[in-house]
Amino acid sequence: MARHLSEKELVVASHNPGKLREILDLLAPFKIVLRSAIQLGLREAEETGQTFAENAKIKALSAAIESQLPSLADDSGLSVLALGGAPGIYSARWGGPERNFTVAMERVWMELGGDATDAQFVCALCLAWPDGHTEIFEGTVSGHITWPGRGLRGFGYDPIFVPEGHKRTFGEMDPKKKHAMSHRANAFSKLVAACLEGKK
Ligand code: IMP
Repeated sequence: MARHLSEKELVVASHNPGKLREILDLLAPFKIVLRSAIQLGLREAEETGQTFAENAKIKALSAAIESQLPSLADDSGLSVLALGGAPGIYSARWGGPERNFTVAMERVWMELGGDATDAQFVCALCLAWPDGHTEIFEGTVSGHITWPGRGLRGFGYDPIFVPEGHKRTFGEMDPKKKHAMSHRANAFSKLVAACLEGKK
């Protein structure tokens, strides 16, 4: 059985402002005092894993040990089937040192040779405790790549991703709508069922 979060405080171990905003929104209905890694001045762990789950675990454990508080980390990215799953765990790095996602989206489109194609967003969430215990949950959302990108909402690759069954990109969608179907929301609902029951 998964370990329940009985503590009152939780560190959100992300230094990515777009992601942080979405995780804080998802956690808002819960009676948990939220601290961010940025606010606590925690170091940014190096992502040396080979999978989303491994990287989420590295980030969550690093924050939990440094802060001595339970910590939640997200590792996520865009996985394009025709590119063998790329950019995948390297999604942030395709934006270069400046994390410029206009450049990253152009690279996706260029490597695809201008063909709209299937893709998915993947998210691994890891909840870690200072004693080293971890719980990991994964979520995905399927869709396709569109070009040119559309919409100024969301972050990262949102302007070029159209979720299955929809016409708008994640960049055009109301954030509430994205939260109802995203890879992050899917992983989050598993985390809630396993570790956050009764915290509302
Ligand atoms: P990391 O998990 O910090 O390595 O970064 C994941 C990267 O994947 C982000 O910088 C975004 O570019 C991309 N990504 C993850 N989730 C989303 C999303 O919901 N929308 C758009 N891009 C995302």
